[in-house]
Amino acid sequence: MLKSNGKKTAISVASTACLCLVLLLVAVQHHHRVQVHEETNREDSGTRSLLQEEEEGDAQPGSAQVKKGFSAYFTKLTRGRREVEKPVSSSASTADPPPAEDISADDIFIAVKTTKKFHQSRLNLLLDTWISRNMQQTYIFTDGEDEELKKKIGSHAINTNCSAAHSRQALSCKMAVEYDKFIESGKKWFCHVDDDNYVNVRTLVKQLSHYPHTQDMYIGKPSLDRPIEATERLGDNKMKAVNFWFATGGAGFCVSRGLALKMSPWASGGHFMNTAEKIRLPDDCTIGYIIESVLGVPLTRSNLFHSHLENLQQVSRSEIHKQITLSYGMFENKSNIINLKGAFPVEEDPSRFKSVHCLLYPDTPWCPPQVAF
Ligand code: UDP
Ligand code: MN
Repeated sequence: MLKSNGKKTAISVASTACLCLVLLLVAVQHHHRVQVHEETNREDSGTRSLLQEEEEGDAQPGSAQVKKGFSAYFTKLTRGRREVEKPVSSSASTADPPPAEDISADDIFIAVKTTKKFHQSRLNLLLDTWISRNMQQTYIFTDGEDEELKKKIGSHAINTNCSAAHSRQALSCKMAVEYDKFIESGKKWFCHVDDDNYVNVRTLVKQLSHYPHTQDMYIGKPSLDRPIEATERLGDNKMKAVNFWFATGGAGFCVSRGLALKMSPWASGGHFMNTAEKIRLPDDCTIGYIIESVLGVPLTRSNLFHSHLENLQQVSRSEIHKQITLSYGMFENKSNIINLKGAFPVEEDPSRFKSVHCLLYPDTPWCPPQVAF
């Protein structure tokens, strides 16, 4: 009896240990997946994570039926989480819901932030490409006089008189002028981009037409995988911890007029600089702070905006024409550019913007005729 009982106990202990081991294995595996996903997200919260979903689907380790069952369950959970995280835009771009408002490019105010030293090296490329097709809605915010630039774009070249430094204050000073000029313009949407962004205005119009401009809308792409943690200075040496999402300025973002008007007490006139000082963060973070933290309006994520903080090689080649913004830059001493075999070789078109432009506007006089890419 005793012997038999002992055997039973041994079997039960063994099976419990086995089940624990299986659970432990699954838990470790799940933890790893989430970590990989989050690592990926840190670099690019969009395209890469969607691509990775397919890879993970194939890589189902383990052979035991029970392990597969658990694994499938946890994969489902992880996927479920991703579905929730998926930006509206990715489904919007495939499902194409009817527009909420019939807008045209003229309803958008596109602010390009630049600095005198980049007029030659960066701005001219934009003026020759996407800005040339969108002169009426593009405004250039710089920090020095440039007669050549004035000849090209007239009063849309705005000298902010802000310092030409890359300091937090100088960048906030420019954003403050961008905001004020937008309010003055009476246009329906404010979009901000850097001078290393290509803007596909057709897709931008299409995207923004999904929302009424009178609604509170803040659209863009975060560069972090979690809300930024900041300390708000309340005066009297008091501090308050705040967490909020912000759309990275280097990918471009848009704000509806309805929301922009509500931002006024923290953004108009000299207020923007004061607000930026209160949290001691750069201009794009300050926008996020005013919208998410102060006004309580959440950021609407879109995977169609791209900065050079993400791996631009991951932008699907066949979907380049569907993107709203693109960028180029350096990452760990290597050039970070989109993968496009276009009208010009990389040596002639290192940013790939000329090739993108010929893809979108093949009738451009300087584009090689009838090239099959
Ligand atoms: N910029 C500026 N003043 C400066 C340096 C940069 O206004 O002294 C602008 C620049 O023209 C660009 C943006 O700030 O629109 C971001 O600069 P950059 O791309 O050089 O740096 P990043 O932050 O993307 O690494
Ligand atoms: Mn940049």
